[in-house]
Amino acid sequence: MHGASAVNDAKVDKQLRLYVGLVAFLGVCCLIRATVSAPGVLVGDLPFLLALTTIIAAASGHFMELRVRSDNRLFSATSGSILIAVATVPLPWVILCTAVGVLASKVLIRQQPMKAAFNVAKDTVAATAGASAAYLAGIRPASDFVSAPPPLERLVAGLALTAFAYAIVDDLLGHTVLALSTRTSWRQAARRIWDVQAWLRLVNLVFAVLVVLAIGKEQHLIWAIVPVVLVVKLTTRAKIRQRADLEAWRRLASTTDRLNVTELSAVLHAAVTRTPELFSADEAEIQLDDVEPPRIVRGAAGRLGFEGALRDAPTRVGAVVEARLDGPETGSIGVLRLRFRKPVKLNESEQYKLQAFASSLSTAIGNARAYAQLKRINAENAYAATHDPLTGLANRRELLDEANRIFGQRAPDGMFAMLLIDLNHFKEVNDTLGHAAGDEVLRAVARRLEDAARPGDLVARLGGDEFAVLLTGLPAPAVATHRAAELLSTLDRPIEVDGMQLTVEAAGGIALAPGSGGVQELMRRADVAMYEAKRGGRRTAMYAHSRDTADVGRLVLGGELTRAVARREFVVDFQPIVDLSSGEVVSAEALARWHHPEHGDLTPMQFLETVERSGQLPAFADAVLDESLAAIGAWREAGFDLPVAVNVSPRSLLDPTFPAAVLNRLAGHAVPPDRLVLEFAETLTLSQLEVVDRALTELRDAGVKLTLDDFGTGVSSLSVLSRIPVHQLKVDREFVVAVETSAEAAAVVRSTVDLARSLHLAVVADGVESEPQRHALWELGCVAGQGHLFARPMRAGRLLATLQRGSEGRPGFLAGPLHRSGSVVRMARRRNPRSPLPHLPA
Ligand code: C2E
Ligand code: CA
Repeated sequence: MHGASAVNDAKVDKQLRLYVGLVAFLGVCCLIRATVSAPGVLVGDLPFLLALTTIIAAASGHFMELRVRSDNRLFSATSGSILIAVATVPLPWVILCTAVGVLASKVLIRQQPMKAAFNVAKDTVAATAGASAAYLAGIRPASDFVSAPPPLERLVAGLALTAFAYAIVDDLLGHTVLALSTRTSWRQAARRIWDVQAWLRLVNLVFAVLVVLAIGKEQHLIWAIVPVVLVVKLTTRAKIRQRADLEAWRRLASTTDRLNVTELSAVLHAAVTRTPELFSADEAEIQLDDVEPPRIVRGAAGRLGFEGALRDAPTRVGAVVEARLDGPETGSIGVLRLRFRKPVKLNESEQYKLQAFASSLSTAIGNARAYAQLKRINAENAYAATHDPLTGLANRRELLDEANRIFGQRAPDGMFAMLLIDLNHFKEVNDTLGHAAGDEVLRAVARRLEDAARPGDLVARLGGDEFAVLLTGLPAPAVATHRAAELLSTLDRPIEVDGMQLTVEAAGGIALAPGSGGVQELMRRADVAMYEAKRGGRRTAMYAHSRDTADVGRLVLGGELTRAVARREFVVDFQPIVDLSSGEVVSAEALARWHHPEHGDLTPMQFLETVERSGQLPAFADAVLDESLAAIGAWREAGFDLPVAVNVSPRSLLDPTFPAAVLNRLAGHAVPPDRLVLEFAETLTLSQLEVVDRALTELRDAGVKLTLDDFGTGVSSLSVLSRIPVHQLKVDREFVVAVETSAEAAAVVRSTVDLARSLHLAVVADGVESEPQRHALWELGCVAGQGHLFARPMRAGRLLATLQRGSEGRPGFLAGPLHRSGSVVRMARRRNPRSPLPHLPA
């Protein structure tokens, strides 16, 4: 591209030279013709000719200078002085005086030879045309130069015609050279300055007429004209300069106005496409140095050129004028370059304009950047305000907004429902494997939910391990349950974190959009349903009004925990554990209750998770332990030496101060450690962490007994057993309920008993509700059990009274013996008969 333009340049230059040569030739022809036909001159007339030539020279010196691209375009007032000559001396002398005068002026201002030659030739040819027109119009001064001027009308008409002819030739020749050298069209070249010239020519004509009239009266007045021409020229020049200056500022202002856009590229484009015209440059270029990589934008008048990285920009030749672009604080941000084909020197005013423009441009660039930054920050803020940063899902606010929006719709597309999802035991993942792993799990869950969601559904993370899905476009309520199950089933596949396969369990509560109460009620209902799912150990539950009566949302409870601890609202019920064979009470399990001032006794299912999530867990655990140990003491005083099993949250086991706190309490109540049994369930935590092993070992070494709760339901029971030496296993209610009806449940119980036997552990059955269950359990080798069959959990005092009352007159018994004396005693298949608590293996 660049090569092509160079070739083009050469071609144009050749055309230009050819053209100038042609005009010069014409000029020489005119001169020869004039010299040959010039009449003789009297010595006395020489001063007049000299004065005339001087006037022409003075008028021809440049009037004003307009730089068009790199060519200086001069405006002269030659026409006026030539008109005076035309009216006062014979035609050949007009031509000769013009040639000599113009030449003298060009030499005086040291114009470039080629330009000077062109100008002299052009004015000579134009003068020939003008003088010829005057001759034809009847203005034919005598050769003695001292003729009276023609009548005024003829003079004006003749000189007007002369001026017209002169202008035509002058414009024709002048615009052509301008068009050629600036490579613009002839029309463009002519249009650029026509108004200034027309005005000048009119002034010239009037001036010439006045002068000719004056000289007609007194020939010597011609000398007075010389300074007049000079003065007029100077004042006109100043005026034209001023006007051109004003025009230039106006254009500068309008261009800088165009820079007032917010888009950076629009600013740069406007600048490079408009600056060339403003400074008559061939090309403008902006280089931004404070970006990586430095960027270049180029343009010529009205069109965009190269735009891209500096290193990719084609190299350019030509004269360059530069202006630094400075940011308000950042210092230099780059440079604005004007490129010209030929060397140029900007005049003072132009330099000043360039500075002004560069500073406007800098400001515009700064503004556009600030605006872009503001826009980005706004977008980021808007995103952050509605999204969860960890998973990128919508956040609570966005979810509520969206639900609100749908509530507000007059005719929503189908029904909609809220599915609230809560991960079980997530805190343990966090505490055990670290927050990074926890985050990984949350992200994986988010991805799966999002992948499984239908278009139109909105998946959100509400915080912590809580997610929600707004199910929309439901054709029927039942579909909500189906979709919820579908969504939750995507969590069945284990999630891999740091090479470990983690199984995430979750509970989901579904609520259909209620008729009243809006989003808040929808969320509350979903929360109630979610808790129901948790309580029932189910994957999902649908909100039902009938089950909502006594329900207290954990959100409500969360705020009341501190008070509950302070006012000792946490109390303990005890459920006796009975020798299945004899019916004698051998120990008791402590089960926490929240004796709530408004809601009455709340079960652990209703508040435990809230407690575990809060910072109140240690205080709560301590309260339960304290009451349990107090009960042991009270019962012992009454003659019932029963150990108590206290449930321990996995999170308590992660607390390094927990063992010491337990041992302190034991010492405080003067209860021997072996009267305390700690029950913990196997969870992900317990199979992973050394700190848990250490805590349990410390407690065990101190004499405290350990029970593995909910045995059979977990995933890695055996691995826990191999690492944590517990004393007892508690068979989960799930198997006990089905023990006499389901072969599988029976098999689990039997294998648990066999395992316990080989490891010398005791086995307790949880949730024994019927005699057949009691019987079946005993037959399978299970020696102890608890459940509604024997007693429901009750306060310590009531349990003592129950113990004292006893069964069938036997205090300390809660049921009759399994095998009445006299009946055939079928021995339980126990090869190693072992009584359960209180005689647990050491
Ligand atoms: P768990 O350790 O499995 O406790 C036994 C649960 O079964 C108790 O529920 C008890 O009331 C219930 N239950 C007992 N016998 C029967 C029966 O024959 N049939 C039926 N259907 N249920 C029976 P509860 O009191 O609601 O406790 C629920 C869970 O809360 C407990 O399950 C235990 O894991 C936890 N928990 C209770 N108290 C505490 C505590 O102080 N600390 C901690 N960390 N957890 C506790
Ligand atoms: Ca338990």
